Amino acid sequence: MLAFAESVVDSCHGIRDDPQEVESFLNNPTTVFICSRHNPRGMGFLMRKPFRVQFKLKEDVDFGQVDAIVFLGIRLASQTPVFAVLLQELIPGSEEFISDLRRMIATKQDPDFEEINLVSLALSLLEWNRVTKFCSFCAGSLDSLRGGIKKHCSSCKLAQYPRIDPSIIVLILNPSGEKVLLARSPQYPKKMMTLVSGFLDASESVELAVIREVKEEVGLDVDAASIRYVTSQSWTAGRSLMLGCIARVSSETIVIADPKEIEMASWFERSQVLQGLSFWRDPDQNLDSLGSTEFFTPPPGLMAHFLLMSWISGKLDSLLSAR
Ligand SMILES: [Zn+2]
Repeated sequence: MLAFAESVVDSCHGIRDDPQEVESFLNNPTTVFICSRHNPRGMGFLMRKPFRVQFKLKEDVDFGQVDAIVFLGIRLASQTPVFAVLLQELIPGSEEFISDLRRMIATKQDPDFEEINLVSLALSLLEWNRVTKFCSFCAGSLDSLRGGIKKHCSSCKLAQYPRIDPSIIVLILNPSGEKVLLARSPQYPKKMMTLVSGFLDASESVELAVIREVKEEVGLDVDAASIRYVTSQSWTAGRSLMLGCIARVSSETIVIADPKEIEMASWFERSQVLQGLSFWRDPDQNLDSLGSTEFFTPPPGLMAHFLLMSWISGKLDSLLSAR
C-alpha cells in the first residue's frame, strides 16, 4: 500500500468562498486544531528531522499567538472539522505528535496513514502560508482567501496558490528485464539503496525527465518506447508529486558522472532486492546485522518500495494493463 494514496479530508470546496461559513467551523466544539510552530529551516528540513505537532481543541489554543490558520476541511474518518494552526510556540506540557514523516512510516509496524497524511497536509499548507508573504510579481501585500489555501494581491490582483513540484522515480530494468538498477546518494542513510529519481525541469515531459535523469545519474540510455507511468504519490511536506515509472535501458554499462549525486549504482536480481525489502519485516531493523554486500530499500508505503515489490511479485504488468 502506498502512503498518501487516499483522501483524508473533504476540502469543502463549495463553501470556502464564504468566510462566515469557514469561521463557523472555528466555533464547532468538535473541531480539531493541528498545531505547529515556525520551522526556521523550512520544509526540506522536515523530510529528514523530527518535527513537533499537537492535536488540540479550541480552548487549548491561544489565538493571540497564531501566525497562520488554514481550514483543512472535514476529516473523513471522524466527520469533524479540522484546521492547521501555526503558533509562535507550541503549548507547553502538552502531548506531542512527533512528525518525522519518513521515519514514522518506516518504524511503525502498522502506521496510521490517515493521521500521517493529515499532518503532512497541515504542515505543507502552513509552510506555504509562512513563506508566501508578498506578491511574487509586484511585492504587494497578500490577502488570505478560501480558508487559507489561496492568496490574492491587494495591489495587482494576482492570485497565488500552493504549488506542487512534479518529480519522477523510475524502476530501471536491464535489457533482459531480469535485473533492476539500484543506486545510492551520499546523503542517504548508510546501506540504503533505492531507485533513480529527480525533479522535472521547466517545460519537460515525464518521458524526457526519465531519459535525462537516468543518463545524468548513471549514464544509461533509456529505450524511450519502454517508458511506462505506473502510479503517483504525493509528498505534501516536500511539495512534491512523485510520478512512478518503469523503463528499460539498452545496456548494463553504468557510468557515474557526479559522485556527489550518486556514489554507487549496480544491477540486482530479484532475490537480492527481496532481501533489501525484507529488512522492514525485521522488528529490530538492525543495520549491523546486514552483511557487507547487503542493503535495505526505502520502507513500505513509499513509492520505491511499492515499485520494487510490484516488480518482484509480477504485479507490474497488471498495474499497467489496468490503465
Ligand atoms: Zn501584486
